[in-house]
Amino acid sequence: MSLLNFNAILDVAQQRQFKAIGSFNLHCIEMLPAFFRAAKKTDSPLMIQISTGTAEYLGYKLLVDSVRSLAESENVPTCLHLDHCSDIKAIETAMNAGFSSVMYDGSHLSMEDNIANTRIVVEMARPRNISVEAELGAIGGSEDGKAVAEEDICFTTVEEARHFIEETHVDMLAVSVGTVHGLYTGKAHIQHQRLKEISEATKTPLVLHGGTGVSDDDMRLAVTEGINKVNVGTEMNVQWVGQCKTMFEKGKVNDSVRKFLIPANDAVTNVLMEKIALFK
Ligand SMILES: [Zn+2]
Repeated sequence: MSLLNFNAILDVAQQRQFKAIGSFNLHCIEMLPAFFRAAKKTDSPLMIQISTGTAEYLGYKLLVDSVRSLAESENVPTCLHLDHCSDIKAIETAMNAGFSSVMYDGSHLSMEDNIANTRIVVEMARPRNISVEAELGAIGGSEDGKAVAEEDICFTTVEEARHFIEETHVDMLAVSVGTVHGLYTGKAHIQHQRLKEISEATKTPLVLHGGTGVSDDDMRLAVTEGINKVNVGTEMNVQWVGQCKTMFEKGKVNDSVRKFLIPANDAVTNVLMEKIALFK
């Protein structure tokens, strides 16, 4: 089974009665089987996203081969997506390695430059049947490793979104409508009216970043208002590291390391299953 792009995976998700697909950040290779277990248990397709840093840490070949192999053996329709990348060269590396979807993040640039660069990526992606996500507006928290201060959060406007989509024809658009990256202690306030208006104006699948900090009720609502992809990054990391800290603290050095990691991997499966349940 080859990896599917975003449009194909969204089709599968919708056939299975999901309104949106969760795109979950893989932080280390040990998490990968845990992701597939969650997809199997919920009968959901799987969208795995990864930062350039993590892809380089794991090695593109190990990553792509492992994801392809599990997609096939577990019979789970799977999309492998490059998260937040503002380096077109790195995007090309991911495309060559076998990613089926990429995000070009030019949200820090002027509208003109964001459009111009996004178009370059779209032109590279089309012949290879790879989907492209772009971002308009600035989402708070940390973006692409750089902190976005609260006063620099810039909400996406309806007019800008309409113009951007007309100029770039990206497959999906990340919007800034109140969520914050990395938030796992409080809850974000989603601007539902803005979201609905952007969806109406663009007729394009919208992406909600910072899914960790969204309440269940807000999430259920957002996926009826045009959000078709929900990024969840921080929560798996928080759960995995939290479990590992406890287990390593309790363990002995000659215990099999496997024993320390199993509870962490189970916690990751649970995060995915809980989020996926909100998209039905
Ligand atoms: Zn993001």
